[in-house]
Amino acid sequence: MVMADSVQKPLLRGPVRVGFYDIERTLGKGNFAVVKLARHRITKTEVAIKIIDKTQLDAVNLEKIYREVQIMKMLDHPHIIKLYQVMETKNMLYLVTEYAKNGEIFDYLAKHGRLSELEARRKFWQILSAVDYCHNRNIVHRDLKAENLLLDGHMNIKIADFGFANFFQPGEPLATWCGSPPYAAPEVFEGQQYEGPQLDIWSMGVVLYVLVCGALPFDGPTLPVLRQRVLEGRFRIPYFMTEDCAVSQAGRLSQNSPAVNGSASSLAAD
Ligand code: ATP
Ligand code: MG
Repeated sequence: MVMADSVQKPLLRGPVRVGFYDIERTLGKGNFAVVKLARHRITKTEVAIKIIDKTQLDAVNLEKIYREVQIMKMLDHPHIIKLYQVMETKNMLYLVTEYAKNGEIFDYLAKHGRLSELEARRKFWQILSAVDYCHNRNIVHRDLKAENLLLDGHMNIKIADFGFANFFQPGEPLATWCGSPPYAAPEVFEGQQYEGPQLDIWSMGVVLYVLVCGALPFDGPTLPVLRQRVLEGRFRIPYFMTEDCAVSQAGRLSQNSPAVNGSASSLAAD
């Protein structure tokens, strides 16, 4: 880690600067971080800078952030947001990363609706190659969801947000409750220990469904209702989903999925 050579407060009219970068606008906000679009003053390259106020974090969350940095430093893959530089001052941490121009696939789906199966397959293959790359390095993401799948200028996938990522050893289960409830695997809802990679694989099944249907497979007005639906493994196969795709969903999202193995009534279109 290097110290930020200059992290300046807003001047009267001038831009806010972080190192050699001028901050342009906010891209997103998380629990502990704000992500800004910034431009290199000389090369004009656009980057995303995740800015973390360390004074707002307790020791546990600070450790999590340092783990996120450690993991991102290890990753170099065409479909994972690349960490370029880390700057640190006494109170602040700045992660300078690759910028994904077309933002979250979540927003893309909200605006344009579901993807064709052909396009979903292309995106899903990119996600799979990136997650496989992580798992081969004993890293689990643990927060795969449409909000953390970004799109670059060519509409290619860039996986972001390794804030819940961790190392795993085969045969040594993990136990921390991670991720977002609609994407969480049954074993997480049941408070069981889990094999890290399997957690990502479940979330990828949810992601595939979201890409193809533009809606979540498991949803509910309250957490207990959602939990029940996930544990039952019940989800709808809409009329427009091809049989090939439905079989693939069943493979990923079912332990005992009535939606595919069950009666025709559970296959009702929505
Ligand atoms: P949360 O707790 O909500 O998951 P977080 O603090 O971990 O958030 P990120 O998920 O890394 O932060 O970033 C928050 C949002 O900022 C993203 O969902 C995305 O909209 C935007 N964002 C983050 N990184 C980039 C990037 N490299 N390019 C474009 N947008 C980005
Ligand atoms: Mg996020």
